[in-house]
Amino acid sequence: MRIVMIGPPGAGKGTQGALIAEHFDIPRIVMGDLLRDHVARHTNLGRVVDGYLGRGELVPDDVMLCIVRQALIAARAAGGYVFDGVPRTMAQARAAYTIAAELGMTANAAVHLRADDRELMGRLLGRAALEHRADDTEAVIRHRLELYQKAAQPIIAWFAQRGILVSVDAMRQAGEVGREILAALELLPEPTGPASVRHPVDLSGLGTGCA
Ligand code: AMP
Repeated sequence: MRIVMIGPPGAGKGTQGALIAEHFDIPRIVMGDLLRDHVARHTNLGRVVDGYLGRGELVPDDVMLCIVRQALIAARAAGGYVFDGVPRTMAQARAAYTIAAELGMTANAAVHLRADDRELMGRLLGRAALEHRADDTEAVIRHRLELYQKAAQPIIAWFAQRGILVSVDAMRQAGEVGREILAALELLPEPTGPASVRHPVDLSGLGTGCA
């Protein structure tokens, strides 16, 4: 199974992505976590992306696409993936598709979580109080939501046009949302391609060499 999660910050991509990854026994590649980990470890990549994350700005596409390529190569050995955080722009969507097509690893479903900004702001401020993330201040949250709203429509339309969009109402209990997603994904045929043999993969070095 090869899945892309789409949705605004706070919609539950992490929770639902983890559920999907566990259900289908595939790795979850979370761009935001990966970048934050590089920042915390003061790697070259961490130094390059630190300012972008702090401001809630998008990291440049060349850096992101380098990570996407590494992640897809690793995911090929693991038999699939759940991508969380890419694509954030149409340019990323097209370029990631080209890379995935070269590797025989294009997504077979894009799970779209729908939620409105008021609900999201409440959830994100709640999370800020718990996690102390540098980009969970009210101003930065507002900016990240605006960036998402500006970029999301063409990306969602693009996945819909490819016939792989699974769109769910994410303003309900996480368990209910998860059940609906898994039921929809279970109906999909297993993707064909090189990922029929599974090997354990180490994703810990992703992004190294991308800055
Ligand atoms: P997230 O945890 O997904 O909200 O991502 C946190 C931050 O990581 C974003 O505000 C961006 O600075 C950066 N980021 C994550 N994914 C991407 C991406 N696909 N393109 C550019 N920047 C990204």
